[in-house]
Amino acid sequence: MINLDDPKKFRPLVGQAHQVAMNMLRPISRKYDRAEHEYPKELDMLAAMIDGLSESGASEGAGAAGVRREGADGDTTVKNGTNLASVMSIAEMCWGDVGLLLSMPRQGLGNSAIASVADDEQLARFDGVWAGMAITEPGTGSDSANIKTTATLDGDHYVLNGEKIFVTSGDRCDAVVVWATLDRELGRAAIKSFVVPKGTEGMRVERLEHKLGIRASDTATIIFDNCRVPAENLLGSPEVDVKQGFAGAMATFDNTRPLVAAMAVGCARASLDLTRELLADAGVVVDHDRPAQLQSAAAAKFLQMEADWEAAHLLVLQAAWMADNRQPNSLEASMAKAKAGRVGSDITLSCVELAGSIGYSEAELLEKWARDSKILDIFEGTQQIQQLIVARRILGLSSAELK
Ligand SMILES: Cc1cc2nc3c(=O)[nH]c(=O)nc-3n(C[C@H](O)[C@H](O)[C@H](O)COP(=O)(O)OP(=O)(O)OC[C@H]3O[C@@H](n4cnc5c(N)ncnc54)[C@H](O)[C@@H]3O)c2cc1C
Repeated sequence: MINLDDPKKFRPLVGQAHQVAMNMLRPISRKYDRAEHEYPKELDMLAAMIDGLSESGASEGAGAAGVRREGADGDTTVKNGTNLASVMSIAEMCWGDVGLLLSMPRQGLGNSAIASVADDEQLARFDGVWAGMAITEPGTGSDSANIKTTATLDGDHYVLNGEKIFVTSGDRCDAVVVWATLDRELGRAAIKSFVVPKGTEGMRVERLEHKLGIRASDTATIIFDNCRVPAENLLGSPEVDVKQGFAGAMATFDNTRPLVAAMAVGCARASLDLTRELLADAGVVVDHDRPAQLQSAAAAKFLQMEADWEAAHLLVLQAAWMADNRQPNSLEASMAKAKAGRVGSDITLSCVELAGSIGYSEAELLEKWARDSKILDIFEGTQQIQQLIVARRILGLSSAELK
């Protein structure tokens, strides 16, 4: 029988995340929305707390940490593990503030890449490093197989050359996981990821972006000009396996897409919770026991948004649970990201609409959440790209057959 309740064992973790979101993130939300590019120094204390919890083993997935397929091969025990804990706590933190969650030290998307692909030695070496993720380039976004940044082996170093844009935490992080090609002639199989520590000669932050939302999060353009990185910083295998193609690099997305989808779920719930209160204050009763068409237009709209939210929420839990149980989840990760990304934007904007002038004004955070949520339908693969991936998987078509 399917049990749709959240796992009991994660309730304390989710409860803690909720307290942090309510008491530490919400109070500084507007401040750092206005002070774009200013580092939210309050997060240092929070990061130290999360480190403490992780070290004591008291917390699984307290922030946007990396996730790893757990368990030895052949282990058939069904489990609710780190992936599920991560999406649940991230959703809760994003109920507080997405931009601040994305700014949390040592919890970058690059950390997920390291956790997903690194070998044990690299995992130990990069432990505690705050890592951003640099895939996008001028002229290369959705078509990440088209990356032009090169990595050329020179002795025991790789020399990186290229430009990366829109790197989340690119200015504040300690290192960036950079996607580069070993040989453009060999196509997508030659794309590898490299951990480049901040301050490495030949790497420079060129500029920071001004953005619609998630303004607390810094977004950087980074130039690599003959940047020498130790060969052992290449994540995974240096072999170019043409048969495996892009699969190795893309595996990272199976882990990061549910995390981004969870962010959308958390942000949308923030909007729903506040709108529910505002509607109640305005005398609108939302009755879950009566058909929507028999209720006011506002109540019917609210019921429809709640149903959409629940569908997104369940898809996120499913994708994460599959990863915990070592089941291939590329299809489900993209479905979760597509659904949560879209309903996240729809719900937050519809809540602005339902709340009218209060929704549009800065007196409440509804307008901010509508701005913040849009990025969650864009980065880590846009809405359209997720739908394309889902269609390819269901129809059994390759990327060459369905573009
Ligand atoms: C705030 C912010 C933070 C970011 N953080 C990071 C980061 O940390 N690291 C990183 O590497 N990147 C990051 N990005 C980049 C982000 O991942 C890309 O913007 C995204 O992948 C889309 O790429 P693009 O902007 O080049 O758009 P394009 O790929 O040019 O797409 C433009 C439009 O065309 C659509 N489209 C493209 N191809 C198809 C197709 N085949 N079929 C149908 N529609 C299609 C897209 O869905 C989109 O709507 C960030 C971007 C922003 C705005």
